[in-house]
This record gives sequence, structure tokens and C-alpha cells, in this order.
Amino acid sequence: MRSLFVALNKLGLAEPGFDSVADITACPGTESCNLAISDSSNISLQLEKVIREEYPDLIYNKNLKIKISGCPNSCGQHGLAGIGLHGSTIKDKQGKVLPALVVLLGGGRLKDGAGIIADKIIKIPSKRGPNALRLLLNDFESNGQEGEYYHDYFLRVGRTHFYNLLKPLTDLSSVTPADYCDWGDEHDFALQTATGECAGVIIDLVTTLFYESEEKLNSATQAIQMQQYADSVYHSYSAAVNTAKALLLVKDIRPSSQIQVIQDFEKEYGDSSLQAAKGFKEFVLQINKQEPTAEFALTYLEEVKEFLKASITYHLGEPAKSLSV
Ligand code: SF4
Repeated sequence: MRSLFVALNKLGLAEPGFDSVADITACPGTESCNLAISDSSNISLQLEKVIREEYPDLIYNKNLKIKISGCPNSCGQHGLAGIGLHGSTIKDKQGKVLPALVVLLGGGRLKDGAGIIADKIIKIPSKRGPNALRLLLNDFESNGQEGEYYHDYFLRVGRTHFYNLLKPLTDLSSVTPADYCDWGDEHDFALQTATGECAGVIIDLVTTLFYESEEKLNSATQAIQMQQYADSVYHSYSAAVNTAKALLLVKDIRPSSQIQVIQDFEKEYGDSSLQAAKGFKEFVLQINKQEPTAEFALTYLEEVKEFLKASITYHLGEPAKSLSV
């Protein structure tokens, strides 16, 4: 028995913290999964380091779980975590892509076995993951009540509190060259997903892009609730272009810029049954002609939602079953 302990200890497997806050669940992400958008395993090691070095008490706390997936498909079960993260991307103003993490909060498993689905809060550059974790843990330490579970705390203070807490991390005016590289990689990030399989499910990239569009529309809705109309309009625009990109991928067309997506989509789907395909460029680029008022943000959001729904129906031959927008 002792020799087994010694052998495991040599591998670093005798550390305390099993099933605690410091024991982060992560899917393989970009290390081996074709569907991964950004890293999940290296970021989990970074976050565990933050917990072990800066929050040692949490090594013995099993009430809060952190889970990470490399894409929205949730093999890392981020949707059931108190703090969940999944891989994504963000574009800067020049159109250059940064690896990103979508932060979800408030999920969990109750004692009776029932589950609570985490709420999507915000998307941040991946390299700011450790700072996001510090903000969240410090906030809970300061404002959580004695013995309160994180999902109860989340419900008590509400998602807007967390959105405001993390919003400064989305400011791209201060990104550094390192922010363009994913964790565990020294090269500038490039999205390289392909059809793949994982954890018993097979999901194609087109579906993943539709999920991303849904996510962008959720961000657009949240921005309207926060009266951030320009942000909302941008998220809706981004969802429309992403959806067009998904349908182009069906024809194996992979444009390299947003304007190319718009032009190719109009050419390829101009006479399809998709409502928005008639004058797609005109439809999607309304943002250049309209002020970002509350009224326009709302109208544009609804139009892009309809476009996404019509696109999914067009692709699948039936209405989307799991769309939440
Ligand atoms: S498909 Fe599954 S294993 Fe692959 S990155 Fe996404 S969540 Fe992780």
C-alpha cells in the first residue's frame, strides 16, 4: 500500500483536494477534440494553480464545482457548474481573433439529485480566465452568507450583479499580444474546428456555429436589458454573419472575412426560401445606416432571431428543437 502511495505521490496524484473547488473538471478541448473552439485543459491547470496558491482554504471545500468545456457541447459539463466556462472566440476591432471563454454561473446538483442549469453571463478573452476566477471568488467571500451555496448566492444577488462584476474583463482596448495566443500555445490563435466526435455524441461544426449564433443572440438580449444598445446591435449582427457562415459551410465554402461571408451568402442563397437571403447584405448591414437606439436594437434582434430559426429549419428540414432565443 505504501509503495502505491509513493508511486502516486511521485505523479502528483496524492495532493489533497479531490472533488473540491480545486479539482476542476475539463474536457480534452483543443488537445484532442476536432470540435474544440479553444483550450479547456491548460486553462483548468491555471485555475487550479490560482486556487491552490491564493485560496488554499478552498482545497477542502466541496460545495462549489468548476467545470470547463472547449466548446458549447458541454462534455466538461460546464452547464451544471457553480462556475462553468466554455471555449469560444472574440474578434477585436481589426477582425483579429482572440481565444475566449464564455462564463456561466449558478449551476449545480442538489442533494435530492435534481440539477440546476447555469446561466450564461458574459464572454471574456481566455487569458483573463484567472482574473475572472479571482473576481468571482473574492465576491463570494465578501458577499456570500455563512453556509450559503453558490447557486443560492447566484439566485439571491441575480445575474446582473455578475455581469457588472465581469464586464471590465471584456474591454479589448488593453489586450496584449499574449491575449491572442491560447493557453498552452505560443502562436496566434486560429479557429480550426472540424467534424468530430466526443463523449458519445457526434455533432457537426454547422450545428456548433448555430449554437454560437444562439449564444450571440442571448448576449444581444442581455445587452438590451442592460440598456447597452450598441453592444446589442453588434451581437445581433455577429449572430447573423455567423449563421450565414454556417450555411456556407454546408456547401464547403469557407470565407475568410465577414464581408466575404456576406457576399458569398448573397450569391449562394440569394434565391433560396430563406427570407433574409433576399438582400442579405442590405439586411445585415442595416447597422451602418441606423443609430443604435433601443427601438432599432430590439427590431434588429428580432429579425436576426427569425433569420437564425429559418436557417436552422432550412438546414435540418425541421424547426430547431433546442433553440432558446
Ligand atoms: S465537443 Fe466535447 S470534448 Fe470536444 S471540445 Fe466540445 S465539449 Fe470538449
